Amino acid sequence: MVEGFIPPSHPRAESLRVREKLVSAYRQGIVVEEGLIAHGRGECFDYILGEKTQPFALEAEKTAAAALLLAQHPVISVNGNAAALCAGGLVELAKLVGAKIEVNLFHWSEKRERLIVQLLKAEGAEEVLGLGSEGEAVIPELQSWRGKVNPRGIFKADTVFLAVEDGDRTAALRNMGKRVIAVDLNPFSRTALAASITIVDNLLRAVPNLRAAAEALKHEGREKLEKIVENYSNPENLREAVDFINTRLRSLEFGKFEHQPQTGEGTP
Ligand code: ATP
Ligand code: MG
Repeated sequence: MVEGFIPPSHPRAESLRVREKLVSAYRQGIVVEEGLIAHGRGECFDYILGEKTQPFALEAEKTAAAALLLAQHPVISVNGNAAALCAGGLVELAKLVGAKIEVNLFHWSEKRERLIVQLLKAEGAEEVLGLGSEGEAVIPELQSWRGKVNPRGIFKADTVFLAVEDGDRTAALRNMGKRVIAVDLNPFSRTALAASITIVDNLLRAVPNLRAAAEALKHEGREKLEKIVENYSNPENLREAVDFINTRLRSLEFGKFEHQPQTGEGTP
């Protein structure tokens, strides 16, 4: 097979294309090795979720769109995986809800930050915050690069949107009093448990869904948006995700997929 060629008829073609996208971003220096591993963990949960946006995710997406529209200082935090998967969609979402964009990396390097800023600008972002020359603010509790943020961005934000993020950093932002919206396919992760609104969905589906929800809600009054956020319970939403996983695992019929040996096949 020619390298990089995915036959359209391959049953996992879409998933293979996404892997290629990430590997290509890795070769460009946007994604790190750890990001590729994190993607694999996400894929596993996506398989179990049927690779579809389930009703609990759609509800979280609608709530997240309302929360972003309500925020005074919303910030969309972008890391390597998020940039590789949907830089353009995140730029559009930021414009729709009036959010700032900040590149915030667990494995920071000046070069990596610069590459991601360039990618976001090529996708239409006017301003992208990073650590750069503006000086840094520090998230209490977190040491080294892991805690550094832009003083005009995440540090000042009342609402932070993040994806494929580590649990420690999510919890530290909550402890600063921020509302955190997290996209995480794993409803058991510390990020999922710590966030204010957890979207258990693939970022690739969550971003278009968030954009559609923000479009639908952007002319609504604050009262209606506040109602949506008030009526939402993150623990209940995660419970629904786990119930869905339980039901799906119990309903799998393994016999159906048993391999039938062909004539002449088998151990010699
Ligand atoms: P935590 O630190 O929150 O306990 P973790 O250590 O298991 O989680 P990390 O590597 O820190 O995981 O973060 C990656 C998370 O992002 C994983 O939970 C993974 O399921 C999720 N993830 C990976 N790719 C995607 C994606 N495309 N969309 C949504 N979530 C994803
Ligand atoms: Mg982690």
